[in-house]
Amino acid sequence: MEKRVNQIKQQLSAQNYKLTPQREATVRVLLENEEDHLSAEDVYLLVKEKAPEIGLATVYRTLELLSDLQIIHKLNFGDGVTRYEFRAEGAEHHHHHLYCLNCGSVDEIMEDLLGPIEKQVESEYNFQIVDHRLTFHGICKRCRGKVEDPKKLYSIKLS
Ligand SMILES: [Zn+2]
Ligand SMILES: [Zn+2]
Ligand SMILES: [Zn+2]
Repeated sequence: MEKRVNQIKQQLSAQNYKLTPQREATVRVLLENEEDHLSAEDVYLLVKEKAPEIGLATVYRTLELLSDLQIIHKLNFGDGVTRYEFRAEGAEHHHHHLYCLNCGSVDEIMEDLLGPIEKQVESEYNFQIVDHRLTFHGICKRCRGKVEDPKKLYSIKLS
């Protein structure tokens, strides 16, 4: 943890930004919840437990800064909520996501299944691919069986 905080401190200072206590509190919450895909609101509520004086606008600005500096990724799953997560260190490929329409949870698929498809698209469409994003929208293992009409939920949630 300290190592990662220091690393981020250096990334910020390389761009002439300081890791202020407010920014550090935000970074720590992101690191402590790295498995999750937190919204600005989620981050704010967790940061407030450590630093009650902090405001949502400050947390929001910090998240924007970290994402501008490409330290974290901004994720949009079409439900109107922006979520944030760390960029995997040294990973050239971003993982894929499973978004649950019922509970809004986001799980990850770590293996890249699209290598062969990328090759095919590149050659068939003469399109140079840099990366891709892939999200599956559906019902997670915790919610399976609890939703009567997943397709209807899909059209309500993501419209
Ligand atoms: Zn679910
Ligand atoms: Zn993720
Ligand atoms: Zn992929």
